[in-house]
Amino acid sequence: MNTQAAALPNVGQPPPLRHETTAGNYFVANYPPFAFWKPEFVPEFFEALERPPLPQADAHTAPLGLYTHIPFCRKRCHFCYFKVYTDKDSSEVRGYLDALLKELTVYAHKPVIGRRKPKFIYFGGGTPSYLSPDQLRHLTDGMKHLLPWDEAEEVTFEAEPGTLTDHKLKAIRDLGITRLSLGIEHFDDHILEINGRAHRSKEIARAYAYAREIGFPQINIDLIAGMVEETEDKWRETVSRAVELKPDSVTIYQMEVPYNTGIYQQMKAAGKLVAPVADWETKRRWVDYAYREFEKAGYTVTSGTTVVRDPAKVKFIYREGLFSGADILSIGVASFGHLNGVHYQNHHEFLPYVTAVNSGRLPVYRALTPTAEERYIREFMLGLKLWSVSAEHFTKKFGMDPRRQFAAPLARLKEWGFLADGGDRIGVTREGLLQIDRLLHEFFKPEHNVGRYA
Ligand code: SF4
Repeated sequence: MNTQAAALPNVGQPPPLRHETTAGNYFVANYPPFAFWKPEFVPEFFEALERPPLPQADAHTAPLGLYTHIPFCRKRCHFCYFKVYTDKDSSEVRGYLDALLKELTVYAHKPVIGRRKPKFIYFGGGTPSYLSPDQLRHLTDGMKHLLPWDEAEEVTFEAEPGTLTDHKLKAIRDLGITRLSLGIEHFDDHILEINGRAHRSKEIARAYAYAREIGFPQINIDLIAGMVEETEDKWRETVSRAVELKPDSVTIYQMEVPYNTGIYQQMKAAGKLVAPVADWETKRRWVDYAYREFEKAGYTVTSGTTVVRDPAKVKFIYREGLFSGADILSIGVASFGHLNGVHYQNHHEFLPYVTAVNSGRLPVYRALTPTAEERYIREFMLGLKLWSVSAEHFTKKFGMDPRRQFAAPLARLKEWGFLADGGDRIGVTREGLLQIDRLLHEFFKPEHNVGRYA
C-alpha cells in the first residue's frame, strides 16, 4: 500500500479560504470522486457480482444495505442537483416501479448476495412520498418477497411534507419504516417559495403532528442554512421552530450551488459568478448557532450535519454502513452503490435505465474498483465527518496506523488549528467539523484533487 506519509507536510500555510458561494459541489460524498468512475470499468463490477461476498477483517461477511431511488417530485427546487422528474404520468411511474423490482430480481440471485438479507434500507430521491399508498405497497411487497426485511434494523423513508396525507402517512408507517425523514428545509413560506419548494409551513405542521400521533419510531427533519433570501432573523426563527418540534434528529446542510441547479442557470444567464446566497462563513455561523440552540435543548452534535436528541436510541445505521465500506445494493435511475469492493452507478437518464432493465440487463453506467489505499482514504475521511475515528480500529482494519498513513494531511490540519488528536481518537475541532468537506480534500491523492471546490 502506498502511503501519504512520504509527502512533505504543507505546514505554515493557511488553509485555502473561499468566502463567497460560487458554483460547484462542496460536499464530499464518496471517494475516489465520481469523475473517476468510468463505463470501461463496468465489467469489473459484473465480475464482482459473480463472487460470494467478501469477508471483512473480522472474518464476518459484510453487512448488506439496500438503497432505492425514487426520482419523482411535485416540483423542482431551484437548488436541486438531483436527477428528478416532475412530468411522469401514473403509467410511467408504475413502469419505473416494475423496473426497480426487475433490477432487484437480478441482484437477488447473484452470488454476491449470498444468504444475506438487508440490515438497513433507505428510500431516497427525489421524493419517495410522491408515490401513492398503492404504489408503495406494490413496490415494498415485491422488495420484501425478493429480499426479506426481517433482519432490517433501520428503514428510512424520505418525505416531502406537502405529499403527506394522513392516509399516506399511515400507509408509510405500516410498511415497516423506522425513520421518517422530513424534507422541511425552512419554516418561512417566502423562503420556501422563492427557493422553489413545493410545500409550505402549514403542511409541515399538519404532517409532523400526525406523524407523531401515529407513532413513527423516529422522525428526522432536514434544514438548509443559507437558502436564497435567508436572513439572520429568519434563520433564528426557523431554528426555534425546529427545536419546538422536538424531532429525534435534525440534519442541517449548508447551501451549495452545483452546476446543474436552477440557481446556477440564473447566475449564468446574468453573467454572475457568485451565487445569491450567504457566504460560507455566514452559513457555518448559522449552522453553529443551530447546533448551540439544539444543545441547549439537550441534543448532541454527532456529525458535521447532524444533531440527535438521544444518541443511545437514535443511530444512523445506513450512514455508518455506507461510510465504513458495507455493501450497498442500490437500485433505481442514477443511484450509487458498492458491492464486493466495486463502486457503481446506474444510468442517470430515465429511458436508458428503464430500457436496460426491461431488456434483461443491469442498468449500470459506470464503475470503479478502489485500491486498498483509496478504500483507506475513503473510510478515514468519511469517519472524520462524524467528529473522530479510532486509530486502533483503522490500524487493525487496514494494517497501517492512520497517524503514519495520513501524516501529511493531519499535520496540515494541526497547523491550521482544526485537529483534535488524543489517545485513540483522531478527529477535528468543532470549527473543523463545520467546514469538514473542504478539509477532506487534504486527504485526497493529488491526482484526485482536480476540480477542488474550496
Ligand atoms: S424535493 Fe428534493 S429531490 Fe425533489 S426537487 Fe426538491 S431538492 Fe430535489
